[in-house]
Amino acid sequence: MVSIRVILVEPEGEINVGLVARVMKNFGFKDLVVVNPKISLERAKKYASHGVDLLAKAKVVRSLDEALEGVSLTAVTSCKTSTGDDILRTSLTLKEFAEKITDYSGVVAIVFGRESVGLRRDEIRKGDILLTIPASPEYPSLNLSHAVAIVLYEIFSKLSKGHVPELKLPEPTEVEILHRKMEEAVKSLSMPEHKKVKTIITLRKVLGKAILTAHEIHVLIGFFRKICLKRMKKTL
Ligand code: SAH
Repeated sequence: MVSIRVILVEPEGEINVGLVARVMKNFGFKDLVVVNPKISLERAKKYASHGVDLLAKAKVVRSLDEALEGVSLTAVTSCKTSTGDDILRTSLTLKEFAEKITDYSGVVAIVFGRESVGLRRDEIRKGDILLTIPASPEYPSLNLSHAVAIVLYEIFSKLSKGHVPELKLPEPTEVEILHRKMEEAVKSLSMPEHKKVKTIITLRKVLGKAILTAHEIHVLIGFFRKICLKRMKKTL
């Protein structure tokens, strides 16, 4: 079964954090990691109801990178999306994501942003997938705990329909190797710096949306490794 880690980045409201723990308990998810909270988790407990044990066990870390340790696939969430050339903001809808992800086994992180300003662009860049809950274009920005509730409900409802995972997500270490090799390969090509950055982000996003299996990532690592070797030989 897919294992979901909920990551809250610098949450600012005790009520929200308490309600996130409560709703995680409602849908049977246990893995909560909080990055650099701006409030006291202790005081958030009174809003967590039966989710209080979950909040007590929540891991508190200093950075998003630390929160993402051991994760094979990262989905970042935002109400702001783009169908145009902002490649960082091309998204999957929640339904598409829930439908796909429940076919896999492995650890998947879902990252939620601050109540005031959401996630920064450098944080969105750490995601393989940008996930959006479709809402009214007049006011698509949901309350943090509501957004978590909707995302978890959708995944829960797919899982409880008896989705049998047939596909295995790659190991986190292999994901790291792929990202590194891909970046090396792109950097070895002759093109302007800004195009390299755009190409790296685009490859990451396209491969993210494909949700690679362990086997596929293996093949791709070999492919990018070959490109790097070939380029190195040429420049020797
Ligand atoms: N003013 C902020 C809103 C942050 S809401 C902004 O404009 O970005 C807090 C968090 O809830 C967001 O960072 C995101 O993680 C989640 N969220 C809110 N609305 C969402 C939506 N429509 N789709 C996906 N996530 C959403």
